[in-house]
Amino acid sequence: MTDSTLSESDLIALDRQLVWHPYSSINSATPVFPISAAQGIHLERSNGQRMIDGMSSWWSAIHGYNHPEMNDAIERQLGKMAHVMFGGLTHEPAVQLCKTLVEISPKGLDHVFISDSGSVAMEVALKMALQYFHAQGLTEKNTFLTFKNGYHGDTFGAMSVCDPVTGMHSIFSGNLKQNIFVDAPSEGFDAPWQDENFAQFKSTFLANKETLAAVVLEPIVQGTGGMRFYSPQYLREIRALCDEHQVLMIADEIATGFGRTGKLFACEHAQISPDIMAVGKALTGGYLSLAATLCSQQVAQTICSGDPGIFMHGPTFMGNPLACAAANASLALLLQQPWQSQIKLIECELIEGLNACKNIGGVEDVRVLGAIGVVELKTAVDMSRIQPMFVERGVWIRPFGKLVYTMPPFICQREDIVEICSGIFDVLQAYLEN
Ligand SMILES: *Cc1c(COP(=O)(O)O)cnc(C)c1O
Repeated sequence: MTDSTLSESDLIALDRQLVWHPYSSINSATPVFPISAAQGIHLERSNGQRMIDGMSSWWSAIHGYNHPEMNDAIERQLGKMAHVMFGGLTHEPAVQLCKTLVEISPKGLDHVFISDSGSVAMEVALKMALQYFHAQGLTEKNTFLTFKNGYHGDTFGAMSVCDPVTGMHSIFSGNLKQNIFVDAPSEGFDAPWQDENFAQFKSTFLANKETLAAVVLEPIVQGTGGMRFYSPQYLREIRALCDEHQVLMIADEIATGFGRTGKLFACEHAQISPDIMAVGKALTGGYLSLAATLCSQQVAQTICSGDPGIFMHGPTFMGNPLACAAANASLALLLQQPWQSQIKLIECELIEGLNACKNIGGVEDVRVLGAIGVVELKTAVDMSRIQPMFVERGVWIRPFGKLVYTMPPFICQREDIVEICSGIFDVLQAYLEN
């Protein structure tokens, strides 16, 4: 790269010396790979090698990289203003974004709070639920009920509803609200419904209903906490319980939102609307950090008619115009294309391509839903061994524990998915059988 001032080896050495990466040790020998550019579905290493991105940069880069329409929208906004405070001021990119989000999200979600990241969108969701009951004088309703194996972000409120084991509650226990957990659904998306599946959730809910503010869940797909899929009937049963007992339902659609599961929002699989919904990740097509929390008219009105009469949150970079412009461009790109048939194509190719992994010793399960493909192994992978194998094979996959999974960009063609799947197969075969 002509404009680089660091050699690749200097960059790696400085990175190792100075830089934290997600969930990492500063003493780790696990390699990181410098990327100097990204184009379409490819990441370009500084040594010139190209890799297909099987991760969409953690669910977000749905239109791929360096997309001309995305770039253009951001450049046009940059020429007007990069940022302006949102207290007392407003602007078209934010208003347009909120209008679109209300139009496309499940019915009954009428107000939008914009924030900077998924974790903050979840903090906002939890605070909305707490303020909703506080405003009614029901301060005892301050606890959340959720599934084990969930992931909702890394801030304290979000952590308090993450899986207690993988979410490391023990380290932070003195600072975490004690919430209530039930076993995660284990039967899969298509499994025939049996009422006993729901018995533990129901009895736990009923035993605690006086103190529950909300049920918090990732609809249909539990992401980072296990890449597990579950029946839409859970959402219908939970919606009914919440309605009957004055408990709010918070849907975390940060990973599932914007088409990933085959529906625009995963709640649509069950035809239900939550009271509060968080989105993030794919919202800007992976260009800039942005998230949003939507809520019903009733939640918003109740919060604002009780004490203190306002919602108590307001990030400095709230409604950042560049990020909103990116989100508007990304949503326009998504909605103007036949995205349903594109996700269906990706789903079919993932099913076909990953199926072969079932025959590799050490593979526990293979499952696919929408544009999400998961190969679950019997034991956790050794990252320092498997990660370079994927890079060598030219397919960017970032396993986590026992999970080797892909959620490719929506612009992938048939042959790209074939390549991602055969990359996963080749690497797993070499990794597990040697
Ligand atoms: C990624 C994720 C979050 C956290 O979002 P950040 O932008 O990383 O803070 C929350 N919930 C779910 C379901 C996620 O996948």
